[in-house]
Amino acid sequence: MHPSDASARTPDGVVAQAAGAASLSVLDAHVADCFACPRLVTWRTDIAVARRAAFRDQEYWGRPVPGFGPAGAEIAILGLAPAAHGGNRTGRIFTGDRSGDVLFAALHRAGLANQPTSVSIDDGLELRHTRIFAAVRCAPPDNKPLPAERDTCAPWLRRELELIRPTLRVVVALGAFAWQAWWPAMISVYGESPPVPRPKFGHGALVRVPGVPDLLGCFHVSQQNTFTGRLTPAMLDGVFARAKALAGLA
Ligand code: SF4
Repeated sequence: MHPSDASARTPDGVVAQAAGAASLSVLDAHVADCFACPRLVTWRTDIAVARRAAFRDQEYWGRPVPGFGPAGAEIAILGLAPAAHGGNRTGRIFTGDRSGDVLFAALHRAGLANQPTSVSIDDGLELRHTRIFAAVRCAPPDNKPLPAERDTCAPWLRRELELIRPTLRVVVALGAFAWQAWWPAMISVYGESPPVPRPKFGHGALVRVPGVPDLLGCFHVSQQNTFTGRLTPAMLDGVFARAKALAGLA
C-alpha cells in the first residue's frame, strides 16, 4: 500500500491529523494510513510481502494497527507495538499470536472479553470496558522502536487517551516501554506531573496521581515472559482483578 494525499507522512502530519480526529473511528482510520516513519514503513511492508511460512496463503495487513475496544472504556491496556506476524498480519492488536492468546484468555476470565481467543479481525471478539492500544502503532524490527519513532507516534496515543478520557480510570502498562511511554502522554493529556523520582516499572506497581487514571504495571505478555513462567495466568488474573477494582467495575 502506498501513501495518498490524505496520509500522514511526517511527524508534523501526525500531530495535525491526531489533533483533528474528532472520534475514535476517525483516529483509527488516520492511524491505519500513517507513513511517517520510513524505517517502520519499510519493515512492516517487507514482512507483509515475505510472510511466515505458516501464513503464506494469507494477505498481511502490513499497516499501522489502531486501538481496539469500546469508546467508553474504563480500562486501557497499553502495549509496546504490534507483532510482525500478529497485529501486522491480522490488522488487530495482539491478534493472531501467542501473546494475544495469553492476554485475551485472561481478559475473558476477567469478564472483559466475550471470548478467550483472538485470531482474526472478523472472529467476533468484543471487549467490555477495555480498550487496547500500543505506544508505537507499527511493528518494529526486533520489537524495538527507535526513540524518534516512539516520539513520532506519540500524538496518536495522546489523542486516543483524550478521546476516552471521560471514562478512563486505569491504564495497565504491559512492560517497561509502555510504562515509560505513559509519562509524556499523561503530562500532555492531563497536565499533571509524574511523581519525583519517577516510579519504576514493576509487575503490580501502582501509581496514583489525583485527577489522572491509575497506572498499573504488568509484565508484558511476550512469549519470553509467559513461556518461562515469569508471567503466569494467575498473575494476569491478579492484575485484571485489581484493574477492575480500581476502575469501579468489581
Ligand atoms: S509508528 Fe506510528 S507514526 Fe510511525 S509510521 Fe507507524 S503509525 Fe505512523
